[in-house]
Formats: sequence, C-alpha cells, structure tokens
Amino acid sequence: MTELERKQDRAPIPSRWEYATAPESREIVSLRERYGHFVGGEWLEPAESYQTIDPASEEPLAEVGQATDEEVQLAVRTAQDAFENGWSALPGSERAKYLYRIARILQERSREFAVLESLNGGKPIRESRDVDLPLSAAHFFYYAGWADKLEYAFPNRKPRPLGVAGQIIPWNFPLLMLAWKIAPALAAGNTVVLKPAETTPLSALLFCDVLRQAELPPGVVNIVTGDGRAGAALVKSDVAKIAFTGSTEVGKAIQRELAGTGKKLTLELGGKAANVIFDDAALDQAVEGIVNGIYFNQGHVCCAGSRLLVQESIYEPVISKLKRRLGTLRVGDPLDKNTDVGAINSRQQLDKIQELVRSGEEEGAEIYQPPCRLPEKGYWFVPTVFTNVAQSYRIAQEEIFGPVLSVLTFRTPDEAVEKANNTPYGLSAGVWTEKGSRILSMAQRLRAGVIWANTYNRFDPSSPFGGYRESGFGREGGLHGLEPYLDFE
Ligand code: NAP
Ligand code: MG
Repeated sequence: MTELERKQDRAPIPSRWEYATAPESREIVSLRERYGHFVGGEWLEPAESYQTIDPASEEPLAEVGQATDEEVQLAVRTAQDAFENGWSALPGSERAKYLYRIARILQERSREFAVLESLNGGKPIRESRDVDLPLSAAHFFYYAGWADKLEYAFPNRKPRPLGVAGQIIPWNFPLLMLAWKIAPALAAGNTVVLKPAETTPLSALLFCDVLRQAELPPGVVNIVTGDGRAGAALVKSDVAKIAFTGSTEVGKAIQRELAGTGKKLTLELGGKAANVIFDDAALDQAVEGIVNGIYFNQGHVCCAGSRLLVQESIYEPVISKLKRRLGTLRVGDPLDKNTDVGAINSRQQLDKIQELVRSGEEEGAEIYQPPCRLPEKGYWFVPTVFTNVAQSYRIAQEEIFGPVLSVLTFRTPDEAVEKANNTPYGLSAGVWTEKGSRILSMAQRLRAGVIWANTYNRFDPSSPFGGYRESGFGREGGLHGLEPYLDFE
C-alpha cells in the first residue's frame, strides 16, 4: 500500500460532509384515490380493497383491489378470449409494433414511473431512475425485436404460443419484474394475467395507462391486485403457464399445486450469493462492488452478494476500507437524489431483517453499523456488516433480503469454492481477481446461474437470468427467456 492510501485508510469517516437535500418533486405523479383491477382494457370495480402506503412515511397512497377468486377467473377468461380472438393470430411484426410502443412510452414517462416506484416501494430515486426504468424499457425493446423472428430463433421447431400466462411478481423491482414477465410473453404471442406484490401495486396500475396509450388490444394484458390469496387463485385458475418470482417457500407450494396438471412453470426464487474477493483484486473497485452487491436496493435483491468471501491475507484492508465506505452511505428519503439506501419495503420485511440480525448477534458474530440517523417515521435499517461469521450461522445460510452483509474468509481457491457452494441456493456469485484464468475456473466451479467477474448486479435484457436448486428453474432474459412461453411441435 502506498503511504497516501495508508493515510486515506486511517482518515476518519467524513461524516461531517453535508449535502443539501435534493428531493425529486412528487408533482409529476397523479394518483387516483381508488384503483380497480384492469380487465379487458377497463377498470373493474373491486369487490374488496386495501390501502397501499409509502414505506418511507407510512402515509397511505391509494386504495387498491384485493382480487377475489371470481375476479381472477374473470381476468383469465378475458385473457383467453383475447388470445383466441385475435392476438395469437397476429403476425409477429404487429405484436412487435405494440411492444416497441410500450417501450417508447416507458422512456417518455420514465420520470413519472421512477418517482412512483420510489414512492410506493422505498427505493432510492437514483436507482429507480437509472436502473429500473431504463432496464424496463430495454426489456420491451429487446423482446419487440424477437416477436417477428421466432422461426429464426428456434429453427425447425415450429414455435407456438401457449395461451394465457399467469404471472406473479415480488415487490423489490415492481416495474422491472413486470417487464421481465410481460415482454417475452407477448412477444411469443401469449396473453397475460399479472399479479403485482401486495405492497407495490402502483407502478403496475400506472402501466395499464401505458397499455391504453399504446392501443394494445383489450384483454391481452390484465392486471389483478391483492395479496398472496390473489396469487394462489391465479395459480389454481385455467392458465397455460405460471411464471413466478418470489420466495422459495411460495415457489415450492406453487410447484406442488401444479404437479401433474400439465401447466408449464418457471420459478425465480431466492439466493444467498457469495461475492469472492481474491488477494490480487483491485481492492477499491472490489469494495465498491461489495457495496453495490449488498446495499443496492436496500439489499432487497434476490441475487445480492450477501456473503462476502475474502481471502485471508487481505482481510484487514478490505474490512477497514469497507467500514469506512459504509460511513459515507446516505440512508433516508427515497425521493432525495443523494440517497444511497432508501426505506425497507414493509413492516413485515423489517421484522424479518431485525430477527435475522438478532440471531447473528446471539450466535456470536460481530456486528458493525456506521453512525447513522434514521428518519422517525417509516421503515429503516442501517447498512450492516457481520464479521466472525461461521458457515453454520443463520445469517450465513438464510436469505435476509436486507442491507446486511455476512463476511467469511478463505485461504485457497478450493476453499472459496466449497464455501461459496455451501448453500441450498444457486442464483448468482461474484469473483474479484486480476487473473483471467482464475475467473474462468471459478465460473466453472461456482454453482450459480449468473456469475459476475470484477463487477456485480449488472443486468442486460439479452443475458439470461435464473438459478439452480432452491433458487428455482427456467431463465428470464435473452433467447432463453422466450422458450418457457412457447410450445414446439
Ligand atoms: P413472496 O411472498 O413469495 O411473494 C412473491 C409474490 O407471490 C407476491 O406477489 C406475493 O403476494 C405472491 N404470493 C404470496 N403467497 C402466494 C401463494 N400462496 N400463491 C401464489 N402467490 C403468492 O415473496 P416476497 O416476500 O414478495 O419477495 C421476497 C422473496 O422473493 C425473496 O426470497 C427473494 O429472493 C425472492 N425474489 C426472487 C427473485 C428472482 O429473480 N429469483 C427476484 C425477486 C425476489 P404478496 O405480495 O401478497 O406476498
Ligand atoms: Mg409475501
């Protein structure tokens, strides 16, 4: 280490560094007091409803429908009609036209969507503006490009759409998960009934406005809101396929329910990814990658780098750089453009994080949290690092889905591989080293669907995403993401 770096490492946390607040205006979003279900291109008055809130202030935002079994079935029948009476027979180039329109409208209205996504979900506006929205539009653009090329994508296999796709998505990337689901389904010629998560329905409901603007034929996309009961009703309904993203527990229940029915299923479930730092890695970049890996979106990321594996010889400098960097993270108002870590999505998720953090302390890990003043109202959790973590601890085994990192060490690449693979999951992993051959050998040996090298949490619509084992099966993104929406002769 150079003398200058040594000095920088010892410098106190620059906590006195003050920023003026830079809040994004809420004005651009106009919310209705009440929303129904979007069925057949119309708003269906819901039989039951509940309130959706802003997790940063606990203020109510709007009333939304809690779909009943009958309402879900009506949405599925409507989607089936739309499939049979026009959509599935449209030439691919016509379907592409609608997808391109949707993509362009999302770009045009991206600020409005970004503000709404941060309001309803708690994520920093910087992330919804720079990640969620551009990627959502990119997914529609990407799959628009495939809609008229399916015969070339799957040569000699005669691809055919399935029918109605039932899609159930989580609250961590509400609009992006919607895009991941709806874009390939429509490109392949299916129609859709989608259920957003209970806590984050609003961007999906605003998306219905985009569908109207794009003049998508009524009934091709239907959105029903509500909690897990609405999801369960969709799973039981007469759909041809279920695409689910969420917890492993619910994924397993859905798999049991669908066994033997002949309905197709893809599951994108949880993870407990290892982010592996070798002693030859560029440490400052690696520290940025660690921070991005676990504190991005408050750690509400299925592929989050939640287990840090550091080679023993660089343990001290990595941990001291990391702690120092943690002190510079700004936690607070999701709508402030300076905010790095926003609000925890719900009271329920905050309880889960707190419970797992308590277990970490009780089992004997050492906790570090930088000094941090949290807002009084809303759901918040300070970015946290656990050192002295044994592989058996719950915080090293279970998905926390919050801004909490567990640090383990290793001596040799073999040990790193063994520890990284020592989990029931297999969604993602990160490798930090200057050695290309090591990247390749680690990528072969780590049992995970996505492996990033010298970067983390990077996404592209052309790149397939998905897991092994308890992280689920089936891929989203790329050509791989079309296949689960098609039958072949
Ligand atoms: P979750 O409870 O499994 O919810 C996922 C979705 O399923 C929500 O829309 C949920 O409704 C619905 N649901 C709940 N119970 C259901 C049931 N019995 N039948 C059908 N649908 C049901 O998970 P979550 O709490 O929203 O999200 C956190 C989990 O999702 C984490 O474990 C995370 O790793 C995983 N996740 C995975 C990926 C991936 O790509 N692999 C991406 C994001 C998240 P409610 O909103 O009412 O619960
Ligand atoms: Mg849930």
